[in-house]
Amino acid sequence: MNPIYLDNNATTMLDPSVKEVMEPFFSSHFGNANSPHLFGTDTHEALDIASNQIYNALNLDDEDTFVVTSGATESINTVHKSILFDFLQQENKKKNKIITTSFEHSASDKSLQFLKSFGIEIIEVPIKDDNIDLDIFKEIFNPDETLLISMIYAQNETGVIVPLHEIANIAQQYKVPIHSDATQCVGKMGLDLQEIPLDYISLSAHKFHGPKGVGGLYIKKNAPLTPLFHGGNQMGGFRAGTLNTAGIVGLGKAIQIATETKEQNIQHIKSLKQKFEEELLAMGAHIYGATQDRLCNTTFMSLPSVDHDYIVWHLNKNQIAAATGSACTSQILSKTKLQRQGVRFSLSKYSSENDIDQTLECLKKLL
Ligand code: PLP
Repeated sequence: MNPIYLDNNATTMLDPSVKEVMEPFFSSHFGNANSPHLFGTDTHEALDIASNQIYNALNLDDEDTFVVTSGATESINTVHKSILFDFLQQENKKKNKIITTSFEHSASDKSLQFLKSFGIEIIEVPIKDDNIDLDIFKEIFNPDETLLISMIYAQNETGVIVPLHEIANIAQQYKVPIHSDATQCVGKMGLDLQEIPLDYISLSAHKFHGPKGVGGLYIKKNAPLTPLFHGGNQMGGFRAGTLNTAGIVGLGKAIQIATETKEQNIQHIKSLKQKFEEELLAMGAHIYGATQDRLCNTTFMSLPSVDHDYIVWHLNKNQIAAATGSACTSQILSKTKLQRQGVRFSLSKYSSENDIDQTLECLKKLL
């Protein structure tokens, strides 16, 4: 039996056509994009193509900014630290709150916790039925005191989609900046930045069959941002450092493919997930966020009387890769905020019916 990979929320396989467009930039086209000679200028056409691919995929306005970063962790930290720098310059410190959720990925959670030591209050909207409690958000939101709203869009463990449209509309109405960690969204749900008024989003290419170590930060036109890295004038001054040419080209191609094939991929993945979840329910499984709008590819479940770590161990022994949650938070699953104990299966366009059948067979042996 070939190994089965059902951990696509941790990372995805590089699409071969993404690899193909990246390859010349590791060899013949190795020049520094900022060099004025032919080795540098040889990279420009591919960088322009990648930029167009990104702007088209996210439906960006020409005046919006897209900064290529090393990934979502850097993008999220850049936004949070930029808010911190502004806060430190405020005289009366009247605005001192950031509103977030209690189920952020550690990249956002830890970055926000760091800001507390500077006097910023982090308010977590509590969870109700595996999603944020929108009524409580409305109760606690005070635009005069809020520096930023920073919320995950699609939760990496459960796949639950946060009602961000409504929150973003409220933020826009009161002119409060809003950032979203949209790392799990590309290719799995709509992400049209003309349709949802977000000021910043963060993402990582390796979550949608692009390369690791490259991602992006979207900055809406006129949204302020203080860079985290100072140095050369790359990325319009928003992120200094020699351009990761191969990474940018790979990100562009990956986001283009993910967006152009989104509908067909969602249909394929959804039908696999439906079969998977129907059989899991018949086995007595509990599926987290089952009543919520969820990503097409994610099932976070528990089986009665079977330890989640044991399930993952048993699957792995049978060459099936699943997870007990986010690869980055698996050490802290017992933390009060993350009391959900279960196993995450996350599918991709490369998942097959055979993968699902084999996994179900393997799980049935545990009952
Ligand atoms: N945010 C979410 C929701 C994620 O799933 C991840 C990766 O697991 C990250 C942020 C961090 O991404 P990266 O490690 O590529 O910076």
